Amino acid sequence: MTNIRTLRIDPKYVPELKRGYSLILKDATQHKEPLEEGEIIRLVDQHNRYIGTGYYGLQNKGIGWILTTKEHEQIDQSFFNKKIKIALSHREEFFHNGETTAFRIFNGEGDGIGGLTIDYFDGYYMASWYSEGIYSFKEYIYNALNEFVDYKAIYEKKRFDTKGQYVDQDDFVMGTAGDFPIIVKENGMNFAINLNDGAMTGIFLDQRDVRRAIRDRYAKGTNMLNTFSYTGAFSVAAALGGARKTTSVDLAKRSLAKTIEQFSVNGIDFEAQDIKVMDVFHYFKYAIRHELKFDLVVLDPPSFARTKKMTFSTAKDYPKLLADAIAITEKNGIIVASTNNASFGMKKFKSFIEQAFKETNTKYKMIDQYGLPKDFRANRDFPEFNYLKVVFIKKLS
Ligand code: SAH
Repeated sequence: MTNIRTLRIDPKYVPELKRGYSLILKDATQHKEPLEEGEIIRLVDQHNRYIGTGYYGLQNKGIGWILTTKEHEQIDQSFFNKKIKIALSHREEFFHNGETTAFRIFNGEGDGIGGLTIDYFDGYYMASWYSEGIYSFKEYIYNALNEFVDYKAIYEKKRFDTKGQYVDQDDFVMGTAGDFPIIVKENGMNFAINLNDGAMTGIFLDQRDVRRAIRDRYAKGTNMLNTFSYTGAFSVAAALGGARKTTSVDLAKRSLAKTIEQFSVNGIDFEAQDIKVMDVFHYFKYAIRHELKFDLVVLDPPSFARTKKMTFSTAKDYPKLLADAIAITEKNGIIVASTNNASFGMKKFKSFIEQAFKETNTKYKMIDQYGLPKDFRANRDFPEFNYLKVVFIKKLS
């Protein structure tokens, strides 16, 4: 272990790391010498006391992740085998549930290796790599998958260009290439998935519980509006739950064909639904002009969005977005407010909700809330890892 580089952690950052925050922030060390992506590093405090061993890999605000706090544990094939095996054992019930065939089998730091997630789609595995550093360990991970699972094929997403964006490529790694789209199931709903068509697959798995709640408890008889609808997954859930009609609004041109596809694989007549390729903020104005009102409104914006005319940041603009939604929601209607912004927690999010209803002079009640589903294992003490916040709000006046 003599040639492992030791980094001293600034005292300010030691307590969090000891509490289980495994991301090594850029400002947490003062190292001068250049480090190599994938290099194993040993972290100590100001008294040279051991904190943990991790790897170097630039990712957003971090320079790497702690992998173990056992000083003599080796980061080798058996280390990665152990992590994958334990992660799989936590998803046992998912593998045995025929109603849901798409779920996350490895969730980064929550499963002990920050910077890597692995999703399962009906026999296909998709690994997402968030730094060049973690990608340098890929053989270990693929060896582990070879050892512990039967797969049709493995695909990978590299998400580590300079801005943490997806690197465009052929994402096939090994196995027998899939004939996409494939249809996966989620609580009995169907979703068309493509693992070799850019950064996105067609569905965000972390909203599974919310889709089920919408279908089973909130959709019946409603006129539903789904903003930032992407492939319309929430609209599908609402339609299957008995919504009278759904309206899906997304700016991206591809969303039209993708939404038609998701309706179609569920046997829903897409022509009876509205699908608008349009800026949500324009749609709000359009709805007001045409006096449209909805019983169920879903708000699930990206954390940041930039159009030609404006930028939207959830941390800043969520109250305004909610105010727009409140204006077109029926009395006793439900607003589903969702955000995946990792920079704030549930408490702050609820303060945005309070603010919006106060400013619009509207009475409301929060009636339900959701976070990450079980397969998205995460250290729930830190909003950065426990990022998903969804609140169902009833508009009372
Ligand atoms: N709610 C979706 C996921 C949303 S992803 C789901 O659960 O599947 C964010 C989406 O917002 C993207 O599809 C993007 O095209 C869209 N988007 C970003 N800015 C927008 C805007 N100003 N108006 C409409 N759609 C927007």
